[in-house]
Amino acid sequence: MSTDLQMNQKQPLVVNTAAELAAAIEVRVIAAITADRQVSVGLVPTMGALHSGHESLVATAREQNDVLVVSIFVNELQFNDAADYARYPRTLDADVEILARAGADIVFAPSATEVYPDGRPLVKIDSGALGSKFEGASRPGHFDGMLAVVVKLLNFAMPPASCPVAVKYRAYFGQKDAQQLVLINRMVKDLNIPVDVCSVPIIRTEQGLALSSRNQFLTPEQAEAALVIYRAMNIIRVRAEKHEPLFLEDVAEIFAREPLVELDYLEVVDPNTLAELAFNCRETPFTGQGLLLVAAKVGEVRLIDNMPLGYHPAGA
Ligand code: AMP
Repeated sequence: MSTDLQMNQKQPLVVNTAAELAAAIEVRVIAAITADRQVSVGLVPTMGALHSGHESLVATAREQNDVLVVSIFVNELQFNDAADYARYPRTLDADVEILARAGADIVFAPSATEVYPDGRPLVKIDSGALGSKFEGASRPGHFDGMLAVVVKLLNFAMPPASCPVAVKYRAYFGQKDAQQLVLINRMVKDLNIPVDVCSVPIIRTEQGLALSSRNQFLTPEQAEAALVIYRAMNIIRVRAEKHEPLFLEDVAEIFAREPLVELDYLEVVDPNTLAELAFNCRETPFTGQGLLLVAAKVGEVRLIDNMPLGYHPAGA
């Protein structure tokens, strides 16, 4: 980037408390008021260690909103493994630089005591049966902890009632975390939280590995081996497009030939509810719409990915 551009780049305001955040949002909402359209605030919740996947969420939110807030908070409650929490990358200065280039207005980087002043919440959000399937089965408590912080972040960044005009409020989440997205949509609906949940497609490397803050823990050899996930998903996508039976078992065998990668699950589910679909067999041709969910471990690193499956009749 040229020095000129760097000089013109507006640094976002970094705030650490709920009160500072509410005040900063209100000031920017007032500055954005015009006679002819509604003012909007967008929130992108993250755990930092930002990569192009996060940047895509931020770019979408930037386009669609007058005021853009990005939160950075590594939420201990959603880690069921203390070592995983301890080694999670924390790169605030580099993140703020990325967010300056992406045009964020406010970075909310609270401490754990700001988010949980009374320690672990007494009143909990229960992610229900869906929260203990797939990722929830391998990471007990993960989704309850995730929902606990998301509801708080949604409340922290909600345009304050003191704003002099009604404000449209949107929050942005990646399709990479498909189960998280379904649960957040349900929570917002079940609890009447006044926010529009917006989802953004998965960003991958050129070779097809879904970007994740955890990818930096992969050796080059492991990153190469992890591409089996994308290869396997594409085989199934093509079968679905050709209206063939999906027969996931033979695709799972591809993983067995990749010793660095240990498959956890490979499932075809309803994209809206994540209920398992009965297409996982040799005989039944795939019709309709599905979502393929995959999780695998590469060394100590757990990777998740997914791909929409749809049947496109020939010539359509
Ligand atoms: P995290 O910092 O991992 O909590 O992720 C913050 C947000 O970025 C979540 O909504 C993720 O789904 C989203 N995200 C993470 N990786 C990607 C990716 N590769 N493509 C799109 N969105 C992503």
